[in-house]
Amino acid sequence: MKYNRTYNFSAGPATMPEEVLEEVRDEMMNYKGSGMCVMEMSHRSKVYQQIIDEAEQDLRDLMGIPDNYKVLFIQGGATLQFSMIPMNLMKNGKAVYIETGAWSKKAIAEAKKVGEVIVAASSKDKNFTYIPDCSDLDIPEDTDYVYICENETIHGVTWNKLPNTKGHVLVSDQSSMFLSKPCNVSNYGIIYGGVQKNIGPAGLAIVIIREDLIRDDLGDLPIYLQYKIHADNGSMYNTPNCWAIYVCGKVFKYLKKIGGLEEMERINIDKAKVFYDFLDQSKLFKGTVVPEARSLMNIPFVTGDPDLDAEVIAYTKKAGFENLKGHKSVGGLRASIYNAMPKDGVIALVDCLKKFEAEH
Ligand SMILES: *Cc1c(COP(=O)(O)O)cnc(C)c1O
Repeated sequence: MKYNRTYNFSAGPATMPEEVLEEVRDEMMNYKGSGMCVMEMSHRSKVYQQIIDEAEQDLRDLMGIPDNYKVLFIQGGATLQFSMIPMNLMKNGKAVYIETGAWSKKAIAEAKKVGEVIVAASSKDKNFTYIPDCSDLDIPEDTDYVYICENETIHGVTWNKLPNTKGHVLVSDQSSMFLSKPCNVSNYGIIYGGVQKNIGPAGLAIVIIREDLIRDDLGDLPIYLQYKIHADNGSMYNTPNCWAIYVCGKVFKYLKKIGGLEEMERINIDKAKVFYDFLDQSKLFKGTVVPEARSLMNIPFVTGDPDLDAEVIAYTKKAGFENLKGHKSVGGLRASIYNAMPKDGVIALVDCLKKFEAEH
């Protein structure tokens, strides 16, 4: 492998396209004749304005974001959005949340500090290994929004069919599936995510929000927590995460170049199939999630014996594969195979696990 890099299966921050890292390296000392690095540049400069404008436009092109949606670059990661969403959207003080794993649970806990939270469906009964049926939920008329975590990074479950919100606004945390496949933005009121899973460097959330949800009657809210201040100032009310926006912009261009999100989805399905096919035929390893809800991005799996799991983790690490330990709340192992993980990496990992299985 070039640069002696390892196959990194981290859930986030996670592996990046090498081509993007190389470009960043090449521009490190002198960005396009500006005489400085992007991290040394004023965010009010013309050069930087072009970087953020292009990043937004390329994201709009990739996802086909309609004109009546704003794209916001906000610091504080996805976690700050757990609070900002209820603070900005709870007009009636009521929202419906679907509980499908660790990240929706955290969002629920924060929303409860702001208003009434109705957990209309949950997969807690089976340790978050499936997506509950949400075709006919009990949703009060005055609900401000319905919230889902569309890909649960820790539990490895994903929504293949969106919930029937009965006309209410849908809010989705796409952190760990952002840009992994095409997305019909107009199905949502807000799509948001931290970028360090599937796009770029940590410390930045992208919020795609329908304009009519941006309120101007929230003057009492701390200013940084109002979507309006970010929207009115082109995500530059204060100094944004200039560096992360720059690198994300490069990833957007890279995705456009390889053929956009349809092509990315094709690659991701093909890649995940290698791993799930292995799990389905293995006598030692098994996936923890029902087939209909399996994530293309995060694959938790176990041997059924925690000591043996620990042995596998040590074995794979020795063979050069990093970050396969499952999250402590689930145990076992987890392979995160985001956009930037090459198929060769998945094949190599499967070969290593097969070898372990043969030896045990
Ligand atoms: C990682 C993650 C978060 C938290 O992201 P931060 O940027 O660390 O705040 C929230 N939701 C999901 C689905 C995640 O994977």
